[in-house]
Amino acid sequence: MSETLLKVDNLKKHFPITGGILQRQVGEVKAVDGISFSVKKGETLGIVGESGCGKSTTGRLLMRLIDPTEGKVVFDDKELTDLSASDMRKVRRDMQMVFQDPFASLNPRHTVERILEEPLIVHGMGNAKERKKKVRELLEVVGLSSYHAKRYPHQFSGGQRQRIGIARALMTRPKLIIADEPVSALDVSIQSQVLNLMEDLQKEFDLTYIFIAHDLGVVRHISDRVAVMYLGRMVELADSEALYQKPMHPYTQALLSAVPIPDPDFEMERKYLTGDIPSPSNPPTGCAFHTRCSECMDICKTDRPEFREIEEGHYVACHLFNDKG
Ligand code: SF4
Repeated sequence: MSETLLKVDNLKKHFPITGGILQRQVGEVKAVDGISFSVKKGETLGIVGESGCGKSTTGRLLMRLIDPTEGKVVFDDKELTDLSASDMRKVRRDMQMVFQDPFASLNPRHTVERILEEPLIVHGMGNAKERKKKVRELLEVVGLSSYHAKRYPHQFSGGQRQRIGIARALMTRPKLIIADEPVSALDVSIQSQVLNLMEDLQKEFDLTYIFIAHDLGVVRHISDRVAVMYLGRMVELADSEALYQKPMHPYTQALLSAVPIPDPDFEMERKYLTGDIPSPSNPPTGCAFHTRCSECMDICKTDRPEFREIEEGHYVACHLFNDKG
């Protein structure tokens, strides 16, 4: 598990804000503001943060569903930001997305067979008979039955619909799946079934995952490493075990305080998040978390902390660690 499949370098997405009669640009929302990370083959990277932190925009940037303002994305040795639209379409065969709301992402007027066939048609893979065979195979793989192929999305439960969304993502045999809050819309009891399925499929299909969630509890078991985002930037990135056992950034600590901890030996001072996440169109100066941080110092209000490796493989952006580099 050492080969790098995806490398992201200083990725930014700034959306213009326009106003006035002439609709001139009056500001910008820095939805993603300079993030860098890499993902190894076979790894699961969890990306976590509150809504508005830029995690879903990151997922869409990686797929190039939107173009970045700045930065590079190298996937499978190809620099995606340089590719033409038609070359990018070819690459998407190897990188697929699973969305939060399976109902909204499945065309209600199409049968499951038609929905699952579509990625194969788009990428010119197989003839009609081969495609139908593959649809039936994939339905079984995700725990549904081949007779479900003729049904419509509304005839399924939420959990089943997400299984269809996962089957659709698998149709082209991708290398990378970006799952954007894939279980957030599901009941807790169904969430673990879908997470277990995704773990099994990872082994069976040799998949690499980027798993986006707003809750550190959800990504805990599935992730090898976890990145925490706040207002468009990464504030902490570490191996799962290190992040859950020894979170360093006050924001991660506050997010973890909201997660029930099954380990009775694990002790962490509970920190609670107060206030709302500030507007990304007008982020606080210095450390963007300073308006909500219980450890805030004077320097935090003026100087933005660097994202630095504090321990091996454990990156943190916080002035509390300035003297430990
Ligand atoms: Fe808190 Fe300062 Fe660290 Fe930001 S840099 S998280 S305000 S201690």
